[in-house]
Amino acid sequence: MNHEQAQNLLPAYVDKELSLSEVVDFERHFNSCTKCQLEYQEQARVSTLIKNNALYFEAKPELAERIESVITVDLSKAFPQKIQGHFWNLNWPGSWDGIWGSKGAIMASLAALIISTSLFFATPSAQEKLTEELTASHIRSLQANHLSDVISTDQHTVKPWFNGKLDFAPPVIDLTATGFPITGGRLDYINGKTIAVIIYHHNKHPINLYIWPNTSGDSAMHATARKGYTLVHWATGGMNYWAVSDLEATKLVSFAEKLQAQVSVN
Ligand SMILES: [Zn+2]
Repeated sequence: MNHEQAQNLLPAYVDKELSLSEVVDFERHFNSCTKCQLEYQEQARVSTLIKNNALYFEAKPELAERIESVITVDLSKAFPQKIQGHFWNLNWPGSWDGIWGSKGAIMASLAALIISTSLFFATPSAQEKLTEELTASHIRSLQANHLSDVISTDQHTVKPWFNGKLDFAPPVIDLTATGFPITGGRLDYINGKTIAVIIYHHNKHPINLYIWPNTSGDSAMHATARKGYTLVHWATGGMNYWAVSDLEATKLVSFAEKLQAQVSVN
């Protein structure tokens, strides 16, 4: 990857939206390019600022058009942060300088509209935050080459390894016979809790199975996708389960169903 290609991918890298293979390609250039690193720091700073102030939202195109039709200010001048299609990255008050003049009143109402709209659109649900956190953990476990704290293909080694490390006993289910061998286990920190992760493999694809006690009733199995990964969630028998993998959804659901069937037998 050359500098220009890396620059194009930089915003997505900052927002952690690249796939694992893209990250690997990107970092091959990035790690030896000071320009890219400086640009990264700047974009990461802006990105944090925006998220911290909840001034980050995806406006529907109709909304953008409506706002543009009622105001006379050129938005692209008012907000030097680029306006790309319907995706707005607003960074102010930095960009406030120089536009707070006769159009102040209009801008103030626009600001009020943006703030209320952004609060409405931006607040991610607890579930979204959780899937975000799990996906990040999954990616980290692959990147840092830190998939397992205990490496074993034997459930009788993995199961006792968790003893004394957690205040619950995660079910460690052997699924070798169905093509999903256990390869290890580790502790992770998700949603403010230390939780168990059991690592399975299927044709060289790792599956991170996150387990922690569930306090809010059983929940049926459902699959979601995030950043190119599949997440399958269900809750049963007092435990929350999240399986995360780059396997296709049908495979991962099949894994989850086999596991769930075994959990209820044990
Ligand atoms: Zn570069």
